[in-house]
Amino acid sequence: MQKREDIHDYFKKLARSDFITADKKDVYIDEDVPVSIGHGQTISQPTLVLDMTLELQLQAENNVLEVGTGSGYQTAMLAPFCKAVYTVERIESLHDQAQKNLEKQGFTNIYLKRGDGTEGWQEHQPYDRIMVTASVREVPDKLLNQLAPGGRMIIPVGTPFMQELQRIEKDKDGKITTSVMYHVAFVRLRGEFE
Ligand code: SAH
Repeated sequence: MQKREDIHDYFKKLARSDFITADKKDVYIDEDVPVSIGHGQTISQPTLVLDMTLELQLQAENNVLEVGTGSGYQTAMLAPFCKAVYTVERIESLHDQAQKNLEKQGFTNIYLKRGDGTEGWQEHQPYDRIMVTASVREVPDKLLNQLAPGGRMIIPVGTPFMQELQRIEKDKDGKITTSVMYHVAFVRLRGEFE
C-alpha cells in the first residue's frame, strides 16, 4: 500500500490554486475550506480531499475510477499513487478545463471522459478503487458492478444536504461491506442511474 507520509508530502506540494481559473480564484483559495469552481460546483476543503485519498488505500497497480472530475484537483491527488485514473465529468466546460489543468501538471496516467458517471466507465472496468465526489441517494448499481473483487469505493450517500461518507468494500467473493467515515455535504451527482 502507498505510504501515508508520501501522500501527505505530495498533498503539501500540490497547489489547489493551479486548478482554478483566475476569474474564479477567491480569497479562500489557500485556506482549508470548500471553494467554487463555477456551475454551482465546489472543490471540498483540501484536508477532506486528502482524507478521502488516504481512505482509498491506494496501491501502485490500482486502476481507479473517479466520478466528478470537477477541477481535476482530486484527480491530481490520486494519479501519482496508482496505475491509472479514469475520470468522468458531466459538465463539458469543467471537463475541458480539468484536462488543461492536468496536462499542465504533466500527468500521463489520467484518462478523462465527458459523460454521466452514474454509469461508471464500462470500457475499463473493473476498477480496484472508485472515488465519487458528488453525492447520491443510493449507490448506483453500475458503480458497484464495476468495482473489482477486493476493491474499495468512497462515496457520499444521503439527502441533498447531508450525507454519510461511505467506505464500501467488495471481498473476493463479491460480498459488499459498508462502513461510515463521517458526515459530509457534497454537491449532487446528477445522472440517469443516481
Ligand atoms: N473532485 C472535484 C470536485 C467535484 S464537485 C475537484 O477536485 O475539483 C462534483 C462534480 O461532479 C462536479 O464537477 C459535477 O459537475 C460532477 N457531476 C455531477 N453529476 C455527475 C455525473 N452524473 N457524472 C459525472 N460528473 C458529475
